Amino acid sequence: MQPDISRLRQQLLQTEESRADSVEAILGEQGPFRSGSLVTVVRKCGKPTCHCATGHGHPAVYLSTKQGGKTRMVYVPADCVESVTQHAQGYRRLRTHRARLAKLAQESLRIIDSLQEALSAEQPMRTKGGRNDNGRRSKPGRKRS
Ligand SMILES: [Zn+2]
Repeated sequence: MQPDISRLRQQLLQTEESRADSVEAILGEQGPFRSGSLVTVVRKCGKPTCHCATGHGHPAVYLSTKQGGKTRMVYVPADCVESVTQHAQGYRRLRTHRARLAKLAQESLRIIDSLQEALSAEQPMRTKGGRNDNGRRSKPGRKRS
């Protein structure tokens, strides 16, 4: 066997193993998922007697999401920050594995095409008597039209 072909077969196996790893990771995700990233915004509440009028503002956590190309900021109550963080992390992991699968699928197809090319039959067809299907002696390396 040509070393090129065995290398391609090995690559295809490895690519498919990587795909299986990502599928397994996706199957392990329990959700729920929430798209977006958490950002902390410090604001002044506007009350003239509040400490924030002269000092630091009030930190608040928001979930920044994209909807129809627009960025939306959704307030996250303090007791939800932990769970929303986990949901957003789960979502990001899912999308990362999905992107990886798409890339690996392309990679597999590319390897299969190379394998097909490497294993393609040489033209022209030969009969057992060393003659081609025109009854003429075949000339190696010359393509029939
Ligand atoms: Zn204030």
